[in-house]
Amino acid sequence: MGFLTLESLSKVYGELAAVRDVDLSVAKGEFVSLLGPSGCGKTTTLQMIAGLVEPSKGKITLDGRDITRVTPNNRGLGIVFQSYALFPHMTVAQNVAFGLEMRKVPRAEREERVKAMLGLVHLGQFAERYPRQLSGGQRQRVAIARALVIQPPVLLLDEPLSNLDAKLREEMQFELRRIQQRVGTTTIMVTHDQAEALSISDRVVVMEQGRMTQIDAPYRLYERPATAFISSFVGKMNRLDGVWRRHGASGHAEIAGMKLPSEAVDLADGYAVALSIRPEKLLLKPAGQGRLDGKIVNRFFLGSYWLFNVETAIGLISVSVPNDGEEPASEGDTVALDWTPASLRVEALSAQGAAA
Ligand code: ATP
Repeated sequence: MGFLTLESLSKVYGELAAVRDVDLSVAKGEFVSLLGPSGCGKTTTLQMIAGLVEPSKGKITLDGRDITRVTPNNRGLGIVFQSYALFPHMTVAQNVAFGLEMRKVPRAEREERVKAMLGLVHLGQFAERYPRQLSGGQRQRVAIARALVIQPPVLLLDEPLSNLDAKLREEMQFELRRIQQRVGTTTIMVTHDQAEALSISDRVVVMEQGRMTQIDAPYRLYERPATAFISSFVGKMNRLDGVWRRHGASGHAEIAGMKLPSEAVDLADGYAVALSIRPEKLLLKPAGQGRLDGKIVNRFFLGSYWLFNVETAIGLISVSVPNDGEEPASEGDTVALDWTPASLRVEALSAQGAAA
């Protein structure tokens, strides 16, 4: 049994099922992200956990106790929203101390805990400043300190980094993970940023139209996306439609009559399939020395790697190549693509869609 569990949790608004029958079990100390596009039901799920939205159906338990009908205050969870909503007329220390005052923690202990928490988020010198005198990243850390100081059993974060610029956002992702690991608080974060979810979570929950369609460790989500949507939403993926040709016990994938070495699957002859491969699983070789020839139509330099778009007989394919310090092939060059069969994934579509 998990520390925090959701069982058949649903929320219906009129005709719309915003969240449908979600089941999730989060272990103590785990960092779990809810990832998905706008409107998929992430925030509604988080708000049901917080007690701010009443579920239409289902059950929420925390440490074995049913909290489905418990008021937000009595759940005692830490919450950080997109807008940090710090109290503008209070100093940083007063903002962080607020929750402890509400809980009637004696002054000496309060001061000690606020000091320790500000140290943890690296804001010790800023205790007497007001929120308006802080940068976005510093304010964000005050909001996290304020939520954590009450030592909540669970920390809920709703797009906590979305107001920050790209560089600061990345720094804060590591910072957030560092703080969470240090304190060991079970954390659920809502984000629509797949890179953010993959980099800092123990597990990622992907939501599509109110449902949880995959719950997995980040690398598994990336390597084995469970749905077509996830394979395109998480990282970059080349995806082409083809057909499976069966011969005896084995078979091969084919697009426009061209045989493409792939992983082996057990499908009938003529079955429509989607073929997918990550750009970094493809190798760029001199023309004629690979499995598929093509022409580079554009090339992008991205620091640690180069990204090529290659026009081939079966469509446009993206290839990424690590930067080794030398200039690689250019736009207009003829090249060949190569890959190991196991890296080309085959997913069954339907027998009806099968090409003749
Ligand atoms: P975003 O990233 O844009 O915040 P989300 O994945 O968090 O999206 P939710 O806010 O959970 O999505 O909304 C899920 C669906 O429920 C949406 O279609 C939304 O319009 C609808 N919805 C949310 N709150 C209400 C409400 N109070 N009344 C009616 N419909 C709502």
